[in-house]
Amino acid sequence: MTTQTTTHVAARSRAHGPTAALWHAVEVHRIVADLDGACELTVCGALARVTTEQDWPLTGTDVCPACTAQAR
Ligand SMILES: [Zn+2]
Repeated sequence: MTTQTTTHVAARSRAHGPTAALWHAVEVHRIVADLDGACELTVCGALARVTTEQDWPLTGTDVCPACTAQAR
């Protein structure tokens, strides 16, 4: 039996106009080390730079609410 697990990594978007930079979640299906520093499509559809320095889920006020709701 094959179990497919989906993991998420944290990614930091850039500040966009009045919107502050937020932490998003990126769905990963490969080795996380390969993604470090890469720009990936987040769960909520934005582009953000993946970092392996933070673990998803993140807590705090600068975390994307859409990603928090979808990536748990
Ligand atoms: Zn997001």
